[in-house]
Amino acid sequence: MSSSDPSHPEPGSSIPDRRRIMCPSSVCSEGATLLGIVKGNGTISFVKEKLTVTKNFVEISKTGRKPESRFRFANTCLQAPCVHWKENKCSLVDNMVNVFSKVAADVNDLPECTIRSDCRWYDQHGSKACTVCPYLIYELDPS
Ligand code: SF4
Repeated sequence: MSSSDPSHPEPGSSIPDRRRIMCPSSVCSEGATLLGIVKGNGTISFVKEKLTVTKNFVEISKTGRKPESRFRFANTCLQAPCVHWKENKCSLVDNMVNVFSKVAADVNDLPECTIRSDCRWYDQHGSKACTVCPYLIYELDPS
């Protein structure tokens, strides 16, 4: 891993002020990024290409189980309006790293991810965020 590799930017310094910073736990909406698909074992399989959610995708995916229980979506980090924004950072990923502390690790072999260079979570916790990220499902399916 090197800081000049755009897929593995240096945590904490990767997001220039004016860039669109991405939240990797957002809702299904037109213009969002489709980040991954929930697998049968409840973890996420990340998509390999950057895919933007269309109006048609939103309409079709909302006819079945909640799309947020079947997919993961990323969108612009809202910061202050978000309930997870505390002390000028995302508390959700802080909690994830704490809860999954046995899994969270600094590793070089990260899952392929289309938003890493702009990801709020990666910026806060580096590769530890990426090792816990596949365990989050936005909307748990009650069935
Ligand atoms: S935490 Fe890592 S794997 Fe998850 S969305 Fe951010 S960069 Fe991608």
